Amino acid sequence: MSLTVGVDVGGTKVAAGVVDPDGHIIEKLKRSTPAASTELTAKVVADAVAELRGRHEVSGVGIGAAGFVDGCRSNVLFAPHLAWRGEPLKKEVEDLVGLPVVMENDGNAAAWAETVLGAARGQEHVIFIGLGTGIAAGIVINGELYRGRWGVAGEPGHYRVVPGGRLCECGLRGCWEQYASGNALVAEAREFARRSPGAAGRLLELGGGSVEGINGPEVTQAAKDGDPCALRCFETVGSWLGQGLAALAAVLDPGCFVIGGGVSDAGELLLAPARAAFEDELTGGSYRPRAEIRLAQLGADAGLIGAADLARRVLPGSPLGSVQRTAPLSGPSPRDGRSPRRSTITANPPTNAATASRAAQLGAFQPMSVDTKR
Ligand SMILES: [Zn+2]
Repeated sequence: MSLTVGVDVGGTKVAAGVVDPDGHIIEKLKRSTPAASTELTAKVVADAVAELRGRHEVSGVGIGAAGFVDGCRSNVLFAPHLAWRGEPLKKEVEDLVGLPVVMENDGNAAAWAETVLGAARGQEHVIFIGLGTGIAAGIVINGELYRGRWGVAGEPGHYRVVPGGRLCECGLRGCWEQYASGNALVAEAREFARRSPGAAGRLLELGGGSVEGINGPEVTQAAKDGDPCALRCFETVGSWLGQGLAALAAVLDPGCFVIGGGVSDAGELLLAPARAAFEDELTGGSYRPRAEIRLAQLGADAGLIGAADLARRVLPGSPLGSVQRTAPLSGPSPRDGRSPRRSTITANPPTNAATASRAAQLGAFQPMSVDTKR
């Protein structure tokens, strides 16, 4: 099993790529997501896989889906930005492409990639926060993806930070992603430009003269040019980011936060105010070791690479595909030349007949535990 396809299905784009065991993308395709039609979305994924298979020999498919993926990783229970409601996406794509498919939440897939192959290599307690349209996140604890009882853990974007605050696409108010995300940054900048057009000259210039022309890249560029309005927007969003990280650290005590997504292109313009707020808000901050806050390394491809890596590890035919087994995935990685990656796959037997029957219906497979020490 050398090559697998990773597919990242987001609210606006589907990205599919052929990925090798070291996380290198051999070829990548992008398509628009027909977000309103679940049937067409599955078909777009399948067509992209079929096209890649025409040129590469691949043995499995990993899908990172922007939604709540259930405990057996077969169905998308809910997606705030797509039409999925209890969608059996794994089976739909398997039927269309004729290859085994592993599905994972997109934030989890990105967290996995950054932990195994990116910014947090060597760490075992990692929280990935991807700032884009909303917040895509994933949690790795003791070297394992933490998925919760029902598979939907790791969604801090919908943690309420302001009671009665801004309306979120999920239907609730005051969610963290309404204050710390790409959309929040743009909303902040547009509001500023509306309120004080005289002071937002550079932002408006980059936006082609209109408030609606101001998007994430324009705010980042203006801040890099030293524009005080854009810098203030990053101060505000970075501060919300840092406060949220402190709340996460209070619960999970990670060793490392990895910040990705389009907004992270701004680098220290975002991370400096985030670190300052994190240190201010962290309980007992002066008396405890603090988590590092790092920039992601794999960029927009993290979800795709992570999904492909997960497919390689758990699909039938994988050297790691058996239950309760610890075995090397490969020899020493050419990326770092250190010790081989090890993986532990543990069974989670159904606890009663009803659960067993439900698991069989849903095509459950074993949860995975991977030791990320390399
Ligand atoms: Zn929300």
